[in-house]
Amino acid sequence: MMAQYLEIKAQNADALLFYRMGDFYEMFFDDAVAAAEALDIALTKRGKHLGEDIAMCGVPVHAAEGYLLQLIRKGFRVAIAEQMEDPAEAKKRGSKSVVRRDVVRLVTPGTLTEESLLEARRHNFLAAYAEVRDEAALAWADISTGEFRVMPCPAVRLGPELARLSPREVVVSEVKEADLAGTVTESGAALTPLARASFDSSAAEKRLCALYNVGSLEAYGSFTRAELSAMGAIVDYLELTQRGKLPLLRVPLRESASKTVQIDAATRRNLEITASLSGGREGSLLIAIDRTVTAAGGRLLERRLSSPSRDLNEIHARHLAVRFLLDQRRLAEDLRTALRKAPDMDRALSRLALDRGGPRDLAAIRNGLTQAGTVAEDIAAAEAPPLLNQAATALVGHEALVDLLDQALVAEPPLLARDGGFIAPGFDADLDEARTLRDEGRGVIARMQADYAAQTGIASLKIKHNNVLGYFIETTATHAEKMLSAPLNETFIHRQTTANQVRFTTVDLSEMETKILNAGNRALEIEKRLYDSLKGAILDRAAQIGEAARALSEIDLAAAFADLAAAEDWVEPKVDDSRAFEVQGGRHPVVERALRKQGAGPFIANDCDLTAGDTPAIWLLTGPNMAGKSTFLRQNALIALLAQAGSYVPAASAHIGLVSQLFSRVGAADDLARGRSTFMVEMVETAAILNQADDRALVILDEIGRGTATYDGLSIAWAVLEHLHDVNRCRALFATHYHEMTALAQKLDGVENATVAVREWEGEVIFLHEVLKGAADRSYGVQVARLAGLPEAVVHRARTVLDALEKGEREGGAAKQALIDDLPLFAATPPAPAPRAPAETSQVENRLREIHPDELTPLDALRLIYELREGL
Ligand code: ADP
Repeated sequence: MMAQYLEIKAQNADALLFYRMGDFYEMFFDDAVAAAEALDIALTKRGKHLGEDIAMCGVPVHAAEGYLLQLIRKGFRVAIAEQMEDPAEAKKRGSKSVVRRDVVRLVTPGTLTEESLLEARRHNFLAAYAEVRDEAALAWADISTGEFRVMPCPAVRLGPELARLSPREVVVSEVKEADLAGTVTESGAALTPLARASFDSSAAEKRLCALYNVGSLEAYGSFTRAELSAMGAIVDYLELTQRGKLPLLRVPLRESASKTVQIDAATRRNLEITASLSGGREGSLLIAIDRTVTAAGGRLLERRLSSPSRDLNEIHARHLAVRFLLDQRRLAEDLRTALRKAPDMDRALSRLALDRGGPRDLAAIRNGLTQAGTVAEDIAAAEAPPLLNQAATALVGHEALVDLLDQALVAEPPLLARDGGFIAPGFDADLDEARTLRDEGRGVIARMQADYAAQTGIASLKIKHNNVLGYFIETTATHAEKMLSAPLNETFIHRQTTANQVRFTTVDLSEMETKILNAGNRALEIEKRLYDSLKGAILDRAAQIGEAARALSEIDLAAAFADLAAAEDWVEPKVDDSRAFEVQGGRHPVVERALRKQGAGPFIANDCDLTAGDTPAIWLLTGPNMAGKSTFLRQNALIALLAQAGSYVPAASAHIGLVSQLFSRVGAADDLARGRSTFMVEMVETAAILNQADDRALVILDEIGRGTATYDGLSIAWAVLEHLHDVNRCRALFATHYHEMTALAQKLDGVENATVAVREWEGEVIFLHEVLKGAADRSYGVQVARLAGLPEAVVHRARTVLDALEKGEREGGAAKQALIDDLPLFAATPPAPAPRAPAETSQVENRLREIHPDELTPLDALRLIYELREGL
């Protein structure tokens, strides 16, 4: 057995091997050590290999999914080796013969299909990135729903696209592994290198043609070599992990980068679109606005928010559908009631295709298509706009299949096909007959028990059943003698004596048992056959069912947007191809919700007008910390994003000229986790904006330049704003605490000052959260510091310094210097310095002496600082 284990393990070296032994999956050697630690289960020993104990641990088969999930989450891949024959068969070949085993599946983060391993409302994407000569492409698939897409993707776009899709796993050619590891890992996905052959574009074409059973891929579009290579790698990897059982993949759709709003990874993080800054989904825009009632609708919402559209027709059609459902509240509610009863057909379909499904998946398709029929009727009865009508066409035409499933299945089938009991009575005559025999047999046995009790005069005599003996007659040991002697021993054949009981059988009982068993087995066999034929009938229509599922999710989303708009008082935005950006009474959906939850005051709505004409339109927003600058900036970005995602928006009115790119940066965000200087990150990200933003971009910069010394910071912020104005010429919101910058409004046509209002009252500052045109008169930093609980002495001292500085400001530079010089150096007497011990030279000092500053690049210097700090 160990020889077999080692052979299978050698073929799956990079995965943990789950080795099936009876009711357990066992792991050995290093696998066992790693798994025992990851799963927190006991590590034991079994036999010796080359003189050493063999480490072992195991998980019961019936609970394996839970353990699998933990392992996958911790970044393991798991190969599952099953017993491919009955142990009895192996014995027939010889007493030492080992049961044949084979890996039936490789479980990896990007190839999950089990309900318990997946998040219902999230896609589980597997992506492949390929380069062929000077072209590059990204393909991605969700085998749990059949989604399959591809797009051209130059290397520099890989990071942003991965941030958009957040795949769980990315496959790349092994020769590219080192180059791409950083980008892939940063996106949170697992990186899987594949041999170069998997990316061969000619082989890819063949593989795809075979998959779709076509002679050429032309009907699906003309793909570049790189696109073929990426799609081929996906299919190859699926063949590898699913061991030949290919999932249902829809025909590949080509996405074009120019059709969606470009949003990079940093902007997604800052705007907390699908995840909050702390990493979870709670606190994100997605969670705040998700009112979909189906899992597929939830997944569609995430896709739309991640990739808002740039296609006016598409956006208008979506708004029109929302408006219609807002007008027709009754209809909308009816649709939602039907949708709530519609299970996740996409995922049921994928499990059926991979032979991992069960009777409940058949029922899911039945229930889903039944609701689809109801939804289609409701829509047909109304004068619905095109988007809904089109969706409805995919929902009809399934009647024959629904009828079949209706007749065939019981209302609530069990989970496993193995145990039977899911085919409705009356559907199949043979099955009914077998079941009657089986059930009648059970009645006969009950009668036999009564007869035997009368015959023996033992009232407590019972007929029981277990897996070892089958049916048997049982009496207590006190009756043993009577039963074992004549005349009863002629009828009753002794089988077993336990501590308290004696067990018998009879010829009649054995015969009856065989009949029941045969009938039961026959019933199971028939059910299994019917299961396969129903599955076949469903898979024959997989494409149409997939379309119906997609249509339901589209309707769900439109109805959810309508529900949201009604409940939260949102309006339909006007989106056109102007360069307008006019929001009246705008609100931040997440902050507003948080304030409401906390029972804090109302959210103050604010206007924003960034309409760009011949000049760009930039608002320079000043105001103290905590006044609401960041909130205002983000709410406007989110309003644009929501509008183009097809939703209504949180405002009294909104007019938005199509936004092509969305950028958002926050100065000196903590990014220590990535080990880069925060300021460096800020500058790298700002550079990306200045290099990429076109005149349709919407840019939001929050306290850029904050990460460095005042004058550096001010100069950088200043120059960045000028560049946005003169070169990028985009619509932008720029928040800063550098009041000096307000002077730019006079110099640059497209720049206007705005400020967040505060009032001072008895030395305290009160935030009004109201955005007004004009510059802030002062920053109130000292007051805010006091609110934050800085010691009174420090606040007092700060005020003295501030007064002196402001006075100096008014009287000119020289006077200011004089004032600063005049300030007593210390407010309080500083403690006397502790006497210094004659120190040994430290490591850090030694290291510093070795350095030649003139030879250091800025990056080396930065690294050195990290190194020195380590040495402290
Ligand atoms: P800043 O960026 O100016 O430091 P924030 O935008 O972070 O300030 O806002 C600070 C807090 O003020 C927010 O967490 C929120 O609770 C509150 N706030 C911001 N804007 C508003 C508003 N328009 N109405 C009500 N409360 C607001």
